[in-house]
Amino acid sequence: MTEDSKILFPGDFIVDEELFLPGEGTYAENGKVLAAGFGIAVKDMKKREVKLKSSVLIPINYKRGDLAIGIVGRVRENVAFIDLIPTIVGTHRVTPTDASAVVRVSDIKNSFVKSVSDELQAGDIVRVKIMEATKYNVSLTLKGPDLGVIKAFCSKCRHPLDKKGDWLVCEQCNCKEKRKMANDYRQGRLKE
Ligand SMILES: [Zn+2]
Repeated sequence: MTEDSKILFPGDFIVDEELFLPGEGTYAENGKVLAAGFGIAVKDMKKREVKLKSSVLIPINYKRGDLAIGIVGRVRENVAFIDLIPTIVGTHRVTPTDASAVVRVSDIKNSFVKSVSDELQAGDIVRVKIMEATKYNVSLTLKGPDLGVIKAFCSKCRHPLDKKGDWLVCEQCNCKEKRKMANDYRQGRLKE
């Protein structure tokens, strides 16, 4: 077994499928093995299989002020639903409750946002702060320089977007998009 040290994001390329078979925590697309979650690639040389060892640990519940990583799900005009990913906050381990986590349009940034879709798109990976967590509802904020999108994908072709000044650009189809970005967009840090 060999382990890479790089933390992979969901959708990141691991290896060509002709070299390794996709194992647990990975999937294959167009001949490539990609990460299905956050973690570290582990290659089994004997079986010629690659797995994703999750960089995340097991559960307690969120509390106010915790930072978390999530993936943007449905986006409506006034609210976005975020699937929180288990992660480590400080020294303790947290995992999502079953409650749906939401960020309201007024909690995206300090300036006025007309519609959530102006700043977030489904599939974006975001760093969020927990404002309130109950059994039924988790509300999140993206206000603050360290909060917001840490990786986004082109809404036309799904290619990861590169940061160019205040914009995100797709090198594949040249489209330009906007997001409420965290200040470490695509630098691979999952938490502070
Ligand atoms: Zn594109």
